[in-house]
Amino acid sequence: MKVEPISILPVGENLIDHPIIDISPITIDNPEYSWNPDTNQTFEDVDNFLRNGTGPLTISYHGSAAAFVSSGRDVRDWPDLQIYYSFVGNVPSSVGSLIEMNRPKSRGRIRLNTTAESMLDNRLPIIDFNYFEVETDLEVLVDGIELTLKIYENTTAFQNLGARYNVKPHKLCEGLSFRSREYWKCYVKHRARSTWHVVGTCKMGMAGSETTVVDSKLRVQGVTNLRVVDASIMPFPPNANTNAAVMMIAEKAASELLQEYQIKHDDKSEL
Ligand SMILES: Cc1cc2nc3c(=O)[nH]c(=O)nc-3n(C[C@H](O)[C@H](O)[C@H](O)COP(=O)(O)OP(=O)(O)OC[C@H]3O[C@@H](n4cnc5c(N)ncnc54)[C@H](O)[C@@H]3O)c2cc1C
Repeated sequence: MKVEPISILPVGENLIDHPIIDISPITIDNPEYSWNPDTNQTFEDVDNFLRNGTGPLTISYHGSAAAFVSSGRDVRDWPDLQIYYSFVGNVPSSVGSLIEMNRPKSRGRIRLNTTAESMLDNRLPIIDFNYFEVETDLEVLVDGIELTLKIYENTTAFQNLGARYNVKPHKLCEGLSFRSREYWKCYVKHRARSTWHVVGTCKMGMAGSETTVVDSKLRVQGVTNLRVVDASIMPFPPNANTNAAVMMIAEKAASELLQEYQIKHDDKSEL
């Protein structure tokens, strides 16, 4: 494309996500404390949900409860782990947990594939999350796994339910001592996935900085009358899910635009 760029900015750099790992199922003795869609769901549950908005179908599958915990590897007392508890088991009589790493240090990037044929070509974006490039990210998730298993295996509450992690070693990590830190690192590398909390590729920052795409008023550097208002402006992700933060970014943009309009309007009325 022979289009002259007006401003060359690091759009697509600083791609960040919260990697997440599942350590389900944790089996329990008393099936009353878990719920499995295949074995427990009844017509009454569906009826209750559709007519009254009540019953087990109203409950979030993976997020019946969440704990925000600090691994101690980052800024002291800043939670870098979000541990979900779910009473919905993927096998009968089981519960489970997802462990999310909320302050990753690794950074990825999105690039445009120059061999793509058009804007509609599925090969157009090259998305490289670059998870675990920084080893600490892996260590933190392993800390989270160990802590979660400790809660299931060493607390009276879960031991009263007979909670146990009797899962076979992951096929691709069989050569490693089961449940050692090396084993868990291998497990995480093979099983971690996105939490869809993707942010960062139009980073907000100091005007003039070479990593900045938008300034604190969300204006694209070097381009007039253009703002970016979405998750991509976050310089780093929040310590929790991203949606509420995106709404606040939108509120902030609305307020900035109103203020700017007001100033222009007032200036004109003075002429
Ligand atoms: C499966 C999933 C589950 C999630 N669960 C949670 C959760 O439980 N809690 C939480 O806090 N966050 C959650 N998130 C994250 C949250 O949804 C996102 O952080 C947030 O929606 C990002 O907002 P956004 O405005 O940046 O982008 P989006 O919400 O993706 O909005 C982009 C908009 O642009 C539109 N668009 C795209 N291309 C064009 C175009 N060419 N022209 C015009 N319009 C276009 C799209 O249709 C879309 O409406 C989840 C995300 C996913 C994918």
